[in-house]
Amino acid sequence: MPLGLYVSVPFCRSKCTYCNFASGVNSQSIFDRYIDRLCCDLQSADHFASGIGGTFDRTIDSIYFGGGTPTILEISQFERLFVTISQNFQVAADAEITIECAPGTLDDSRLDVLQRCGVNRISLGVQSFVDREAASVARLHNRTTVLDDIRRLRAAGISNINVDLIAGLPHQTSASWEFSVSETLATQVPHVSVYMLEVDADSRLGRELIAGGTKYHAHFVPDDDLIADLYEMACDRLVAADILQYEISNFVRPGFKSRQNLKYWTRQPYLGFGVDAHSMLLSASAPAEAVRFSAPDSLDQYLAGRDARITPVSRASALEESFFLGLRLNQGVDLVEIESQYGSDDVRRFSQVIAHFTHAGLLSRESNVLRLTRRGRLLSNEVFQGFISGSNESQAAEVAL
Ligand code: SF4
Repeated sequence: MPLGLYVSVPFCRSKCTYCNFASGVNSQSIFDRYIDRLCCDLQSADHFASGIGGTFDRTIDSIYFGGGTPTILEISQFERLFVTISQNFQVAADAEITIECAPGTLDDSRLDVLQRCGVNRISLGVQSFVDREAASVARLHNRTTVLDDIRRLRAAGISNINVDLIAGLPHQTSASWEFSVSETLATQVPHVSVYMLEVDADSRLGRELIAGGTKYHAHFVPDDDLIADLYEMACDRLVAADILQYEISNFVRPGFKSRQNLKYWTRQPYLGFGVDAHSMLLSASAPAEAVRFSAPDSLDQYLAGRDARITPVSRASALEESFFLGLRLNQGVDLVEIESQYGSDDVRRFSQVIAHFTHAGLLSRESNVLRLTRRGRLLSNEVFQGFISGSNESQAAEVAL
């Protein structure tokens, strides 16, 4: 099975207030050290994987540069990365090679080099087409920058473009969100990701919201009900324009699904490199088992060579993952298929959980296929929690009552 590669570049020009990723603003002097460490990890991936009981095919059919803002790197640093990848892996001729891009960071010389290296898909972190909203969360671009980037990408021959949007930014209203979605549709990009604002203690805006304060425009963040409405409005508008939903947050025109992201949701093997990068490899010795590992989420620890955190995935955990990752997809989980992989006795263990969420209107079952309902997509984390062991017993008890 071909492999997916993820390369994390955790550097940004400024830190967005809502951002809970392991990224930051660093001096360029550190970039070369970071590339050194990435190259070292790429070279030793085979040795590392076999040491922890994992196995992989050297053929790669997808590479994804995320972060952070990968387009912040120098041209020579990109070239080093691509040379090291091609020396250590077999990149398929039709590989999907994506780079995340903050609008306004992809100048012509970078675009030229990236294309020569095989980059054929760009994911633009737009978040909002309303300049005031983008500025309120410290994004450095405006609507014109985004439209100009899309025009230049197309002129250069890259049409496989994703636009990211966030529902729940400060100052957002139904009307302003409608404008952002309309502008996205007008660009005719083939892939759109719609996220609802995450509120947690890992971002400055999240901490301020939790504290009930007013910094970072926190008091202008829409309430949860409106955010859910905005998300549903985007789902309806995109689907009506034939950009069909294939995952909770992802919408696509035919032929443009993200190959890399599908690997995560369908449990295909991938290797991640760099700060906070996650990997999953199939077990070399036990079918249906796997091993997951992740690099340190601190740049200092990563550069200091701190070890990866390794989590073996037992057959039972793999089954849980098949449920809660597969349910993210609109195609849902085929119970017959999953039984053929794990056996009907083990799958039956989830009958009560399935019955509970079906009864609650969060799951629907059509023949053998289990799917999240529209409401289930809004409450997906609660559903997924039900499929994780430890939760099953309490869920079952709740059903019995
Ligand atoms: S550009 Fe992306 S990774 Fe960087 S701070 Fe903003 S949201 Fe986070």
